[in-house]
This record gives sequence, C-alpha cells and structure tokens, in this order.
Amino acid sequence: MVSIDTTKTVDRHPPYQTRNWSPTENCATTTVEKDYPWYANIVNYLAADVESDNFTDYNKKRFLREIRQYYWDEPYLYKHCSNGVYRRCITAIEVPDILSHCHSSSYGGHFATFKTVSKVLQAVFWWPTMFQDAQKFISQCDPC
Ligand SMILES: [Zn+2]
Repeated sequence: MVSIDTTKTVDRHPPYQTRNWSPTENCATTTVEKDYPWYANIVNYLAADVESDNFTDYNKKRFLREIRQYYWDEPYLYKHCSNGVYRRCITAIEVPDILSHCHSSSYGGHFATFKTVSKVLQAVFWWPTMFQDAQKFISQCDPC
C-alpha cells in the first residue's frame, strides 16, 4: 500500500484568509477514510496494483472503468478530462486555498459557482465535489 503524505501542499500562492471554512467540516467528501485523500484507492491501484477490500462486484467494475481517466506521476495524480486536459487531483486540505484564490482574490472577482469552478478548471485543478464545495464556500463569503 502506498502512503500519501497529505500534509505537504504546493505553496505557489500566498496564504489567503479562509474565514471559518474547514475542509473536514464543509467539503462534501467522497473520501475513503478521514485520514486519506479521496483518491487513495486510485493511487494505490495505479502505483502498487493494490485493490481496496471494500469493493463489491459492481463497484470494482466501475472503479476499473473510471481508473482509465487517471494518471499517476508521483507525487501527483492527474485526471485526463474530456477536453483532453490533464488536471491535477486535489486533496480536501488544498481546496479552501484554491477556492479562495479562484473566488475571493482579485483573480477570482467574487463570481458565482459556475464561473468560480471554471476558474479552478482553468487553473488545471480537479476534485470530484468541486461544484458542491464552491457553492458552500461562496455561500459563506461575506462580501457576496
Ligand atoms: Zn465572494
């Protein structure tokens, strides 16, 4: 089993204020477990050929179909999106900073959910609950 260090984040931007917004409380997560990122099963399969024990037949079939969209380039997982762009998969820890940058900064411009998610996608990031997380983040934005 491959261990993924979720404490490391790429700090390309200065930190932004994220008022009362925590990824563990507010993200609509699809995590495997609380301590692992949502893509732990995917990385374990791609990097070490280890399958989860919790798969039913249908879930395993679905998992093997969906895993073709992912590319593991250590230490990052990328998703090959339908428009041909590879987007880096993001952990829940990184979500608030990305949403803050894409919504609250001068680059973000406090736009609504769809435009904010479009900016996240333009920044070549991806996670499965980005619309729900952006909607929650924007609903808690004081200037909006
Ligand atoms: Zn706002």
